[in-house]
Amino acid sequence: MLESRLRELESRGLAQLENAADRESLEAARVEILGRKGSLQALSREMAIVPADQKALIGRLLNGVKAALEQAYDRRKAAFDKAALDARLEGEWFDLTVPAPGVRPGKLHPLTQIQQELEEYFTSLGFAVMDGPEVETEWYNFDALNIPATHPARDAQDTFWMEQGHVLRTHTSPVQVRAMEKFGAPLRIIAPGRVFRNEAIDASHEHTFYQLEGMMIDRDVSVAHMVYFLKGLMQAIFRREVTVRLRPGFFPFVEPGFELDIQCLICAGKGCAVCKQSGWLEQCGCGLVHPNVLRNGGIDPGVWNGFAFGLGLTRLVMMRYGIDDIRWFASGDLRFLSQF
Ligand SMILES: [Zn+2]
Repeated sequence: MLESRLRELESRGLAQLENAADRESLEAARVEILGRKGSLQALSREMAIVPADQKALIGRLLNGVKAALEQAYDRRKAAFDKAALDARLEGEWFDLTVPAPGVRPGKLHPLTQIQQELEEYFTSLGFAVMDGPEVETEWYNFDALNIPATHPARDAQDTFWMEQGHVLRTHTSPVQVRAMEKFGAPLRIIAPGRVFRNEAIDASHEHTFYQLEGMMIDRDVSVAHMVYFLKGLMQAIFRREVTVRLRPGFFPFVEPGFELDIQCLICAGKGCAVCKQSGWLEQCGCGLVHPNVLRNGGIDPGVWNGFAFGLGLTRLVMMRYGIDDIRWFASGDLRFLSQF
């Protein structure tokens, strides 16, 4: 009786294991047949009531059935494992014979490229290139530059204030005063660098951008000298002949102060969308250094005078390349950067 049930379990179990469609149904079949509470275990408990003269025979049969079922399980499991491995190898295959893409050389950021061009231009005219701290004192950023306490630029709306009255410099002009203190007169310096404004960011405003400051102090420096250097600067940037003009402009650290425009390079002065039909493009603020600023830098305005200018380097790079969104510069996007 037990013998026939064992044989029946063997053939049913083998079929079930061998026909399992996947790992889960194979595992379910193993538990049902070979598990601790499975069919084979249930039958083996009946050995206790097998007559003594049949115990050896039934015992061998039981072991044989168990071994056959276990082997069938192992075979099927190995087949599933191999199929899974094959699928993975197929998916992760790669061709070792394909040539490597090669070294992709890095490049300088477009801002850095133009900054270096301008440094070279001014160095050739005898200017020194100066650096200054990005965290400035209120004195260097505002007071020493003749900017009154009531000036709106000092407002927290526009400026990042730090502890103990320090600010993230809002322009490169503080370097003017540091340069006068350090070198005295005569003096020719430029100071390119990063500046910060508390701005809402959009296509033409960033909280962080670049300026280039310039200053020349000597005896009898005139507006004509200033125009000469600034015109040369514009031609160096735009790599062609430009026409410039001055308009009056107010900046507390110069007197008189001007805005320097160049004639629109797109429409040659006729008027277009880029120059808003005016024929001119605003380029930089400039003027003769205010006597108070000279005094704050330790230079006697009775003996020396000079000119100073500050231009938006970021804006110049945008104009030179026709970039319409300032946010590209700090985006780190290689599709943008690799074009320069
Ligand atoms: Zn135009």
